[in-house]
Amino acid sequence: MTQDPFDWTDDEARRRARAGLVRTLRPRPAAQDLLDLASNDYLGLARHPAVTGAAADAAHRWGAGATGSRLVTGSTDLHAELERELAGFCGFEAALVLSSGYAANLAALTALTAREGLLVSDAGNHASIVDGCRLSRAETVVVPHARPDAVAKTLDAHPGRRALVVSDAVFSVDGDAAPLAELAAVCRTAGAALLVDDAHGLGVLGDGGRGTLDAAGLAGADGVVATLTLSKSLGSQGGAVLGPARVIDHLVNAARTFIFDTGLAPAAVGGALESLRLLRREPARAGRAREVARELHRRFTDAGLTAVRPDAAVVSVRAPSPEAAVRWVADCRTAGLAVGCFRPPSVPDGVSRIRLTARADLTPGQIDTAVRTVVAAAPPLPNERP
Ligand code: PMP
Repeated sequence: MTQDPFDWTDDEARRRARAGLVRTLRPRPAAQDLLDLASNDYLGLARHPAVTGAAADAAHRWGAGATGSRLVTGSTDLHAELERELAGFCGFEAALVLSSGYAANLAALTALTAREGLLVSDAGNHASIVDGCRLSRAETVVVPHARPDAVAKTLDAHPGRRALVVSDAVFSVDGDAAPLAELAAVCRTAGAALLVDDAHGLGVLGDGGRGTLDAAGLAGADGVVATLTLSKSLGSQGGAVLGPARVIDHLVNAARTFIFDTGLAPAAVGGALESLRLLRREPARAGRAREVARELHRRFTDAGLTAVRPDAAVVSVRAPSPEAAVRWVADCRTAGLAVGCFRPPSVPDGVSRIRLTARADLTPGQIDTAVRTVVAAAPPLPNERP
């Protein structure tokens, strides 16, 4: 009998099962019957009628798809409007919209480095940054998490190299913020550029949700470029790179994930644009998300759970093992609450977590329910007898 060339996937599946790391797709019902603290819809805008209405209008006007790459037929007036408004809101000279935050990171990392250049990347950076570093073919030095001194040392060790330092603004699993002011100072001293992924800061941090770079006084600063996703606080889909006009112009001409990818669908552009306008009209949404995060953290800590102090709207609670994290999340789901589960390889070995989204639109009653459910389903702490 000839062997099936994919037999090895069964071995991989068995290995995952033994390690408690099986992942399965579970379709989300259209009418949500669970209290949702698992999504990235930080401001509760994904189902806002103005946002879904704008998305539908855009599809009717421009079509269900972009019909081509941005440089061919995939750019509409709506794309240009979103780019202008995103740049203005976040305090940068120019913006470029791509089909995802993932594609935005790949674009910035590949187009802004040279093969003989140097990339300095935080150990906690998102997978899309890790992949962008690999794809750039530049020498990449991974530095310990949130250590500007290690970045400075690395840059000092490579004088004269064109260098780019890259960091998440808010780390996606633990929700802690990067030391951006210190990183920017280190980059300025060494003449390096700084790329900041503000996927989790837009809409939550800064004045009225203008983002982590606004909060750090670095929006539009010399040598600073940002990437964003439109899929979290803006409740839509897509990504963007923000920076000086000449850098954005360079990306239009050099970034392969921009040039060879179909443009972002008009509905996603229309939805994101309406969310941005809503955020301008209702700036208190950002502060409310931060408030909810602080309250969740305080109540989990009071209940004896180990939660990371949140800098934005992500609340991460430590689980003793990947299996315990899976069971915890399943028990919450049975009790009507959706929370996220983070296990290797999304996080390093030994740091499995459940992750909650501190949505700005949660009511006090929903916050109570979420806390009670998480605490009731918590696995025994390491020093407790089961
Ligand atoms: N960067 C970070 C920090 C993220 O958390 C994510 C999404 N999980 C991305 C980039 C990718 O964004 P998108 O989902 O729009 O591709």
